[in-house]
Amino acid sequence: MIRITDKSRCTGCTSCMTACPVQCIVMRRDRQGFDYPVANPDICISCGKCESVCPVINPHEEKTPLAAFAVRVPEYVSGSSSGGVFPYLAGKVIEDGGCVFGAAMQSDMTVGHTDVSDLQGLESLRGSKYVQSDMYSAYQEVKDVLEDGRKVLFSGTPCQVAGLHSFLGKRYEGLMTVDVACHGVPSPGLWEKYIEALKDKYGGRVTGVCFRDKSKSWRHYEFRVDTVGKSISVPYTDDPYMALFIQDMTLRPSCYSCPAGAGKSASDVTLADLWNIAGTGLPLNDDKGVSLVLANTEDGLRALEGMDLYKTDYEIASAGNGGFEPVKEIPPRREEFFQGYHSARDLMAYMKGFVIRKPWYMRIYRKMRSCLSDFKRRISR
Ligand SMILES: Cc1cc2nc3c(=O)[nH]c(=O)nc-3n(C[C@H](O)[C@H](O)[C@H](O)COP(=O)(O)OP(=O)(O)OC[C@H]3O[C@@H](n4cnc5c(N)ncnc54)[C@H](O)[C@@H]3O)c2cc1C
Ligand code: SF4
Ligand code: SF4
Ligand code: SF4
Repeated sequence: MIRITDKSRCTGCTSCMTACPVQCIVMRRDRQGFDYPVANPDICISCGKCESVCPVINPHEEKTPLAAFAVRVPEYVSGSSSGGVFPYLAGKVIEDGGCVFGAAMQSDMTVGHTDVSDLQGLESLRGSKYVQSDMYSAYQEVKDVLEDGRKVLFSGTPCQVAGLHSFLGKRYEGLMTVDVACHGVPSPGLWEKYIEALKDKYGGRVTGVCFRDKSKSWRHYEFRVDTVGKSISVPYTDDPYMALFIQDMTLRPSCYSCPAGAGKSASDVTLADLWNIAGTGLPLNDDKGVSLVLANTEDGLRALEGMDLYKTDYEIASAGNGGFEPVKEIPPRREEFFQGYHSARDLMAYMKGFVIRKPWYMRIYRKMRSCLSDFKRRISR
């Protein structure tokens, strides 16, 4: 029977819960706002299934990518976080009558995995949502659709993809898995409290959030809150939720020594931001967004056909990208942060108190750089 004694060894993938033949496992939220499986010993039949499908107990073999490419899909780049490769791959599966699973923002602004079967529905899956996505019953639904003989594209973080493969236990011909390079996921419990703080700040008129608005700049993207009548954008570093995410303060305990990233998810394709585009010397360095795409399997290579692919060197392209570094230091004030966030009277002010501010000259430099890119954009119109 699964029993979580070390939280850094559970990614919350839900594979164990979904596989239990007597449904005696539920996902329960802890004080830090993350979900963990809890089994009911009175119902458990000691079959051992939950442990055998856990991708942390039984990790997938580590793979090096077959090929790495820089890619931008012109028709999708502006509405996606990087180069718009995900909607291209997903669109092909939908045109073939298949089903796509990915993370969508729900009407209450929580984030969860959703399946879509039409191109319009695909819009909700586009863009990065920086909070752990709730898997609900997605793994079982993927299995049902595959057994019906339809194609499936499942997208998510590497640990979610690893969990799906472990749950399925075999390779289905119709399944393609796509993971995103992942530097970690913040707490869904914290995000729910932050939504309330945003609503208080904007008088209850919040209609949506965009974690990565890159309309001004891909590299220096903004956090945008949509309210009735207007949208308010700030540099991501000025929003306390985003700043603490980037500074690794609010990540799930498993993210500090990730058991699934860097080639251990068994995915067909990995998508990332190609932050080191300058280092590759390729002609896509115009701040609109470009993806680093890794083909991990032959199926993954075939799926990429039809796009303009610029072959690149994986080591150079991934240099300095936190999404490919499985081990991170736990910030010294992380425990203190999670001890106090529940009772904070003013959550935003509380969170700001934990943000490590850059020195004043760095902030002035950043402001000047942002004004300059605004100016360049206006004169190029
Ligand atoms: C939590 C998180 C951390 C990331 N960290 C890095 C990083 O450190 N370095 C890096 O290079 N790239 C990182 N990425 C990936 C990057 O931001 C882009 O998502 C990726 O390059 C795909 O971009 P795209 O333009 O092809 O498509 P998009 O249209 O932007 O595709 C969005 C894709 O991301 C998935 N997704 C969105 N939010 C979540 C979520 N909360 N949980 C699971 N899946 C989600 C959707 O299902 C969809 O497949 C991260 C993404 C997320 C969600
Ligand atoms: S041992 Fe079997 S019955 Fe018990 S929790 Fe695990 S899967 Fe469920
Ligand atoms: S990693 Fe997944 S399968 Fe393993 S215990 Fe956690 S939720 Fe269950
Ligand atoms: S860093 Fe690893 S454990 Fe954390 S969400 Fe990403 S893939 Fe999962």
